Amino acid sequence: MGEMVLKNLLVMKFGGTSVGSAERMRAACDLIAKEAARRPVVAVVSAMSKITDLLLDTTRHAEADDQAGIDRNLATLESRHHEAAAGLLPESEQARLQAAIGEVTADFRRIVSGIQMLGYRPLRAVDEAVAVGERLSALLVSEHLKSRGLGAVAVNAADVVVTDAVFGNASPMMAQTEEKAGATLLPALEKGGIPIVTGFNGATVDGRPTTLGRGGSDFSAAIIAAALNAAELWIWTDVDGIMTADPRLVPDARILPEITYSEAAELAWAGAKVLHPRTLAPLVEKRIPVWSKNSFAPEKPGTRIVPELGEGNTGAKAVTSMANVALVSLEPAAGAGGVHVMARALEALESANVEILALSSSSYRQSFCFLVRHDELERATQAIEAALALELTHGYVRGIDVDRNVGLLAVVGEGMRGFSGLAGRIFTAISREKINIIAIAQGSSELTISIVIRREGLEKAVRAVHTECHL
Ligand code: ASP
Ligand code: MG
Repeated sequence: MGEMVLKNLLVMKFGGTSVGSAERMRAACDLIAKEAARRPVVAVVSAMSKITDLLLDTTRHAEADDQAGIDRNLATLESRHHEAAAGLLPESEQARLQAAIGEVTADFRRIVSGIQMLGYRPLRAVDEAVAVGERLSALLVSEHLKSRGLGAVAVNAADVVVTDAVFGNASPMMAQTEEKAGATLLPALEKGGIPIVTGFNGATVDGRPTTLGRGGSDFSAAIIAAALNAAELWIWTDVDGIMTADPRLVPDARILPEITYSEAAELAWAGAKVLHPRTLAPLVEKRIPVWSKNSFAPEKPGTRIVPELGEGNTGAKAVTSMANVALVSLEPAAGAGGVHVMARALEALESANVEILALSSSSYRQSFCFLVRHDELERATQAIEAALALELTHGYVRGIDVDRNVGLLAVVGEGMRGFSGLAGRIFTAISREKINIIAIAQGSSELTISIVIRREGLEKAVRAVHTECHL
């Protein structure tokens, strides 16, 4: 019977700005109600915009035993939600809803006093604390839908999404999640109900609260869509879809009607703030299509993200850039075993949890360089200095050179495969602007061409490449 009801299931995810006020929550509920009239719907909601930052900041005040800071933040937390509540339910329902909000914020107060008493923030306590933002928005959205006569139920994803125990950046355990999602969400759906599930959080097999990392609500929605074999996932944001470039840099950037999972993942990774980079992974196997849509302009088509490249959809798709990056270069002395040095350095970076954004090496001198984020740079250099202490002391490696004045430009498109000459045209377009190319990395998948250039030329290069590739 479950199969019948769940045919055509739609999972919709609403980001922080899409539930950022009573007005935005009403608009989200309009979208939910419209779809729920014709098919089963599960909604996944983020915390109201800026609330997660506020909650995190509160745990830091608690750690520092700063009572005034805690009180200030709690007042903001409560007033944002009480105000939204006032705009969502009739007067006669207010007392009950305000009390329900109070129950959730009381949980937060309890965790915060625990942290204050300990004087430090255990990761798992932080995870439980920050999930309060999503619990509050799920509560408000579901209560508003109920007041419209719809059978919405607020669900804490701690009862749905089963994860490993990597607090703060957990990964889902899909088999267990399928089981739990079935048990928690299917009965409601079969009765025609609309589960409103918290994004961002989950729990370990033994019930300890976790979160999936900042911006993780997209990932939550994908996990739930995969676990329930949804027909589609719609991700509602505040932009019209995925674009050929950042419109602040390239005024004539356009919305892409369709891109593939691989392209979207690559774009997310290369700095386009469209989707959480891990979002698409759970969907690949089940080939569930995703739409990225604007809740502020729902009539616009948005971008469709599909498993495979459509016919004739060839060429470069988009150009992205990252500004706050640094290039770290290592030059092993002649005969010092460059591959060995590189292996040791990469291993050190891996264990220091530094993400390498691009890597390039020259086989003759065996020098190599890699790109990291500014905020991971210190960790990166310390890790390498420790791992290569002996080589550095004895001159087998000629020091570590750091250049913070660089930027990364990435051109993405599955359809670039076999377009010989495209890379050359891109390099020429950049050089024509008199911008120095420092390093180039092209993945073997030919999905992305990454180019490291001087920071001051980054914006100009993005525009030049956008024009050259006819994006
Ligand atoms: N509220 C969480 C965050 O701000 C998760 C999300 O919005 O995706 O990181
Ligand atoms: Mg978000």
